[in-house]
Amino acid sequence: MKWKEAVTKLQPYQPGKSIEEVKRQYGLTSITKLASNENPFGCSNLVREAISGYGTSYALYPDGYATNLRAAVAEHVGKKETEIIFGNGSDEIIQIISRSLLYPGRNTVMAAPTFPQYKHNAVIEGADSREVPLIDGEHDLSGMLAAIDNETSVVWLCSPNNPTGIHIPAAELVGFLSKVPKDVLVVLDEAYYEYTDAEDFPDSVKLLDSYENLIILRTFSKIYGLAAFRVGYGIAHEEIIRKLEPAREPFNTNTLGQIAAIAALADQGFISRCKEENKMGLQQYYSFCEAEGLAYYPSQGNFILINFDMDSDEVFQYLLENGYIVRSGRALGFPGWVRVTIGSHEQNEGIIAQMKSLLAMRSKKQIEI
Ligand SMILES: *Cc1c(COP(=O)(O)O)cnc(C)c1O
Repeated sequence: MKWKEAVTKLQPYQPGKSIEEVKRQYGLTSITKLASNENPFGCSNLVREAISGYGTSYALYPDGYATNLRAAVAEHVGKKETEIIFGNGSDEIIQIISRSLLYPGRNTVMAAPTFPQYKHNAVIEGADSREVPLIDGEHDLSGMLAAIDNETSVVWLCSPNNPTGIHIPAAELVGFLSKVPKDVLVVLDEAYYEYTDAEDFPDSVKLLDSYENLIILRTFSKIYGLAAFRVGYGIAHEEIIRKLEPAREPFNTNTLGQIAAIAALADQGFISRCKEENKMGLQQYYSFCEAEGLAYYPSQGNFILINFDMDSDEVFQYLLENGYIVRSGRALGFPGWVRVTIGSHEQNEGIIAQMKSLLAMRSKKQIEI
C-alpha cells in the first residue's frame, strides 16, 4: 500500500478504559471520571427539553450551514455569521486548518507540552512541528516568535494551556500578534474560555478587529457540557473563514448537536453557576497542595496539574483502584505530575482523601527505608 509516510508512524488515539471495564476489573461500585475536563454538572436542562422536543425525521441530512446555531453564536460573540466556522468539535477545526495550510516544506510553531492535536495533524500533513518549551507552564512567546520563518504557516496558542491551565495575558498576546508576520495564521485555542476569570485575560474577539490573521477556537464540549454532541467553532475574519470552508465536510455538525448547542447557549445562568463551582473546586485542590507541599499550576481552566514527585502512572493506578480516573502526566509531557479535572465539591473531597492516603503511604514507606 502506498501510505503517506507520516501516517505509518502515528498511533491511533488511545481511549481510556471505560467506566464499566474499570468497575468490573477492580470490583468497584462507583467510578468518578476526572480525566477529560468534562463538566461534572452535565449540561443545562434546556438541552434535554430541546432534544426530546425534536420531531423531524432522522432520515434527513443536517443543515450543513448550521443556520440557526450560526445566528445564535454570532449574536453571542458579537460577530457576523460569515465570521464563524463550525466543526465536529473544535478538534475538527484544528484538522481543517491543518489540511488547508500545512504540507511538506512548511512548518508550524506550537508550545510544548500543549494540546496534542496540533502536532498530530501537522504530522499527517507532512509539515514540520517546531515545539517551543513552556517556561514555568507558560507559553514562551518570544521563543515562539524566534521560531517563525518564511516557511511557517500556522502558530498555535492554547490559552489557558492544556495541560498546565496557565493563560496568556492580554498585553503579551497583543505584543505577540503585532510581531507575527501577517501571512502566518495565529490559532488561539480558547476551549476553556468560559471558565477564565483572570483580570488580564484578553478580550480576544475584540482583537479580531486589529489582527486579520487570527482565528479563535471555542467549544461546546467543556463548560457547556455537550462533549457527546461534538460541536465547536472558530471565529475569524470573513476572508479566513471563506478560505477554510472548502476543507470542511458539508454535514460536519449533526442535527441534534446543533439543537443542543442552541439550547445550551441560551442558558447562561447555568454557565455562571458552573464557573463559580469550578472556582470553589480549584480552591479545594490549592488548599490540599499547599498543606501537602505539592507543586501545582494555578489554573484558569477546569483542571489542575499537580506534581506528586513520584511515578505518575503509579498515582494514576492507585487512584483508579480507589474509584477515580485521572490523566497520568507521563502521557502529557509532565512525568511525575497528574492532571485532574475539577469535579463537584463531593467528588473533589473524595479524590483528595484518596490522594492524602497515597501520600501518607508513601511517607510511611520512606521512613521504613
Ligand atoms: C478539549 C479540548 C479541545 C477539543 O474540544 P472538542 O470541541 O471536543 O473537539 C480543543 N482544545 C483544547 C485545548 C481542549 O482541551
